[in-house]
Amino acid sequence: MTALEIISRKRDGGEHPPEEIEFLISGYLRGDIPDYQMAAWLMAVCIRGMTRAETLALMQTMVRSGEVLDLSGIEGIKVDKHSTGGVGDKVTLIGPPLAAACGVKVPKLSGRALAHTGGTLDKLESVPGLTVDLDPDRFIRQVREVGIAVAAQSPHMVPADKALYALRDVTATVPSVPLIASSVMSKKIAAGADAIVLDVKFGRGAFMPDVPAAEELAMEMVMLGEGAGKRTVALVTAMDNPLGRSVGNALEVQEALDTLAGRGDEELLQVSLVVAREMCWLAEVPNDPDDALRSGAGRAKFLQMLAAQSGQIEKGLSVAPVQLAVPSLGDGHVEAIDALEVGLAGLELGVGRKKKEDSVDHAAGIVISAAVGAQVRAGEPLCVVHARSDELARSVVPRLQKAWRLSSQEVKRPPHVLARVDKDGITRPD
Ligand code: URA
Repeated sequence: MTALEIISRKRDGGEHPPEEIEFLISGYLRGDIPDYQMAAWLMAVCIRGMTRAETLALMQTMVRSGEVLDLSGIEGIKVDKHSTGGVGDKVTLIGPPLAAACGVKVPKLSGRALAHTGGTLDKLESVPGLTVDLDPDRFIRQVREVGIAVAAQSPHMVPADKALYALRDVTATVPSVPLIASSVMSKKIAAGADAIVLDVKFGRGAFMPDVPAAEELAMEMVMLGEGAGKRTVALVTAMDNPLGRSVGNALEVQEALDTLAGRGDEELLQVSLVVAREMCWLAEVPNDPDDALRSGAGRAKFLQMLAAQSGQIEKGLSVAPVQLAVPSLGDGHVEAIDALEVGLAGLELGVGRKKKEDSVDHAAGIVISAAVGAQVRAGEPLCVVHARSDELARSVVPRLQKAWRLSSQEVKRPPHVLARVDKDGITRPD
């Protein structure tokens, strides 16, 4: 077996047996197969695709490349949650605590901000003193005692994905359903939970451009999860407009606290409750997340989790020195807010990182004043920019003004959860 033969097979549209995938990935990790051959194979996969059996073999090979978390010390069905990433997506700070308050055990490993999309770890670290670096013993103890922990993935998990992703990033081979699905699911499987709820986003602020593409990715990920013996459900949700009212690290933690106190944006609350209900269903826990919301138990669980991770929320979240209202240039009803542009404005302000080694500004961000469906007049605020300097705040104003699309007609907010995917297929609400 040689790398050349394997690349040629995929170039010609052939199917790899699992041994070929194992040979390729392990050879690449050892340094026996060079970047240029791996890149050629990745491009062949992008163009030719992979069968489900090949994708499953790729995922399993990647899982075996590193540590797998053993969660057998935690009683009950452990449920993880993952979002493919969006702008203003703070569902992890709301849905999983609601599920945990209902009795679900939630061991969650999260990521950092990536390009214009936010990262849960950066959001949590805006709480003074909070740590996301929990060693396996502390992580497991916290899930056992508190019911939920959200931590950073160990650097020893899924090294094959890390190496492949870095190569894909610079060879235009990221957008491939089997490559994305195996990459995401390898990390979920290595994280050790028994069941997984996926939130697959589509639209301007997401990886997937539209509902059919998101459904295809969702189906592939569900089948990979099930193939690895994990019950998996995926929701397909909209990311054309930012989710909720704020984009930014501390700002999103505050919004999550407000939402858990019953003062939340309708859409954000809806998707968080749907995620929490799916988590309860997979864990076979009969309690209702709506009750956990109404009683305040979800908020209490979130606060308990922050404290268990050494967070001192009582010291207050950081506040940006400059807050600048962005005035509307015209009159109308807000028809859409371009999530990508808002995410890029956030990136300029320091919400995320332009380079891996950049640090984030926890206080920076954008708070939406005129949400989709609202009516505004010229001069009234569309949003408020939170920034470390006046100059920086002013620099993103034109981009944000362009992001708001106004209509002369009244606008109804579009549906947010478009489909549910499980091993039996796709269900679309009417
Ligand atoms: N996120 C991942 O973890 N992997 C991909 O391939 C794309 C997005």
